[in-house]
Amino acid sequence: MTAVSTSPTTPSPARVIEKFSPVSGEKLQEFPISSAEDVEAAVARARAAFVGWRDLGLTRRLEILDRVREVLLKKGEEYAREISRDTGKPYQDSLSTEILAVALLLEYNRKKAPKILARRRAKTPIVFAGKSSLIEYFPRGVVGVISPWNFPFQLGVAPVISALVGGNTVVLKPSEVTPITGEVVRDLFAQAGLPEGVVEVIQGDGSTGAALCQADVDMLFFTGSVATGRKVMAAAAKRPIPVELELGGKDAMIVCADANIKRAAKAAAWGAFANCGQVCVSVERLFVVESIHDKFVELVREEVENIRVGGPDDDADVGPMIFAPQLKTVTRHIADAIERGAKVLTGGEQLRRDGQFFAPTMLTDITPEMEIYREETFGPVLPIIKVRDEEEALRLANDHKYGLNASVWTQNIKKGISLASRLECGQATVNDVINSVGNPSLPFGGVKSSGIGRYHGPDGLRAFMHTKAIMVDRGILNNEPLWFPYAGKYPAVAQLFRGLLGRKVPQMAGGMIKLLRGGKSKKKR
Ligand code: NAD
Repeated sequence: MTAVSTSPTTPSPARVIEKFSPVSGEKLQEFPISSAEDVEAAVARARAAFVGWRDLGLTRRLEILDRVREVLLKKGEEYAREISRDTGKPYQDSLSTEILAVALLLEYNRKKAPKILARRRAKTPIVFAGKSSLIEYFPRGVVGVISPWNFPFQLGVAPVISALVGGNTVVLKPSEVTPITGEVVRDLFAQAGLPEGVVEVIQGDGSTGAALCQADVDMLFFTGSVATGRKVMAAAAKRPIPVELELGGKDAMIVCADANIKRAAKAAAWGAFANCGQVCVSVERLFVVESIHDKFVELVREEVENIRVGGPDDDADVGPMIFAPQLKTVTRHIADAIERGAKVLTGGEQLRRDGQFFAPTMLTDITPEMEIYREETFGPVLPIIKVRDEEEALRLANDHKYGLNASVWTQNIKKGISLASRLECGQATVNDVINSVGNPSLPFGGVKSSGIGRYHGPDGLRAFMHTKAIMVDRGILNNEPLWFPYAGKYPAVAQLFRGLLGRKVPQMAGGMIKLLRGGKSKKKR
């Protein structure tokens, strides 16, 4: 086994990513954009490494992956600083929502993967007498992972690790918006000393991602926008290969009249503005029951006006927008809302200083025809909708093309769980926001336009596996009841059929016994 896990791809010299600081606007670095040939070469290296990695077995793979934890322990804080340089997010966020989130997943996999991926028995119906049934999992092969810029470390590394555990090898294409973190990820796997080709990191833009979708991979795992997700799925359909899509959201927060409104107000501020609102599970629609609306909104405003905006060195709560063009979406959504009658309660404009800073913004009088209600904003804006009661909130929350995450706020836990159950989304929280995505035991993913598939939890490990069914005949019966010859067996099959569907055990057993005797009744003496 060699010490190199990720080989830098040969750059196409003419095309580079120019990385600018979202905090100061200064140019930081250039990175090569990998060509289609670079991508094919990386996939070929991952293909060559596949059988060796698969055949190491789960125990050995988990031992090797434990070195990723060791590297994170040693270099995690240094990595967090690099992620903050890349994104402008607070160091605390880089450490907790990027590095710690991966560490939690590593621990979950180490403890749970042996059971989740183990061969298991399944029930065998009585008509298959003398047989037993098994379910087992085997890796898909080479997995292509394409990641976004908002959590560039976590959303790249987490699917890579989950794929590796099961015995797949991986080619990762990080976002061109955050290439510094792409290099951090490359360093992580290189330092962990994975066998050559097991993880390939290819820097590049959309063209590199598109090339990866066309390359000889066995599965695509994509996190990003709906528009790109469609292209990834279309490319996967040509082969066809399985595809998992983790897409956008327009998450609802429903505040009932009996909520603990002080806690809910803090949650609304954090849920909408953490990571500058660039979280797929940010609160993007706040529904408040009219009896507490004004009081609650005032509490939220106090929280929001206390948020410190600034760069990582300013000890701020909220950093800049990571991707400059996203500022245009934010300003367009706000302008459209104002034109259609929304009121700006606080914020509403780009902050006048270097970098991509936007004031945390609260909008009231939001209505469903506004763009900010229908489309994902992915920025520091909290649209607030007054509702008659929680039933109206639930109806509006569900009447949307997205279904990623949502939260319900009430001190009646039973009612909270019941409302959470009725929400059309991949995950819901009661009296909490965002945090459920950090629990590696919980499957994560969306419904409707928010995506297809789940990662994290048992589903998240099995997503990267093929399922194989094995049925074994133990050799007890030489005379298979349903095999040839058929002559004379029909009445016994019909008796079995009626007994089974009518749930009449003696009738069913009688039919089965007759079949085992070749369709004949017990001989009369
Ligand atoms: P994006 O779709 O613009 O880009 C995502 C990745 O796709 C990048 O690496 C990009 O280079 C690549 N890409 C671009 N064109 C491609 C193509 N034709 N073929 C293949 N790959 C291509 O998304 P983004 O702006 O980086 O991320 C923001 C979006 O991601 C938001 O909608 C957000 O909600 C979503 N997101 C979802 C989750 C989730 O878990 N559901 C998590 C984070 C972000």
